[in-house]
Amino acid sequence: MKFIAGNWKMNGSIAALRNMAAALRDIDTQNKVVLCVPYTMLGVETNGVSLGAQDVSAHDHGAYTGEVSANMLKDAGAEYVIVGHSERRQYHGETNDTVRAKAAAAIAAGLTPIICVGETMDEKQAGKTMAIIESGVRESIPGDTNGKIVIAYEPRWAIGAGLTPTSTEIAEAHTLIAKTLESMGLGGTPVLYGASVKGGNAAEIMSIPHVDGVLVGGASLKPDDFIPIITSVK
Ligand code: PEP
Repeated sequence: MKFIAGNWKMNGSIAALRNMAAALRDIDTQNKVVLCVPYTMLGVETNGVSLGAQDVSAHDHGAYTGEVSANMLKDAGAEYVIVGHSERRQYHGETNDTVRAKAAAAIAAGLTPIICVGETMDEKQAGKTMAIIESGVRESIPGDTNGKIVIAYEPRWAIGAGLTPTSTEIAEAHTLIAKTLESMGLGGTPVLYGASVKGGNAAEIMSIPHVDGVLVGGASLKPDDFIPIITSVK
């Protein structure tokens, strides 16, 4: 069983989500499918497909205009929430400390955070990929996870770019993450790969050791693109 999450980013509509849910209803799969959608779509009935948000406030409630708390996400129908996506790190200055606080808020509310880590192109070219991944994992995970976290390795230079690391690079990154999680007492935590996953490369990527599933951006928006990814593996 693989874990296949879609990240709709700031795309889609309630009608598009209903259409996706209807298309997913009849597919034959044992895989876990989660759609992380804009806040406005969290109340949609999706016939058993889990929904997630794409960000959460680190605060419980109060004077934080524009923010949405973890309890509110839960109340609206979310089971998951992406935290520390590279676009939040890039455009909103989120650091591992911010991400850890948001993940802790999500866990406290009973949500499962999908915690994203990964290196930029500058960091890759400077030979820092492994160090960034390891510090991302160590610093972005709260002390008390309650057994409820998912990690996503997303090389930031590859997201939305149609680029993917080699299978060897993905294997090295995921082996490091698995070892790091083990050393933190979090062995068995699912680790997803994300960046430019599509129907044509999903099965190969998910056959790499320690890749427990995928986080899919652009190719999760349309059933014709997303369903081949879900059905590419048993
Ligand atoms: C993402 O945004 O998490 C992502 C993986 O995007 P894409 O699949 O479009 O590269």
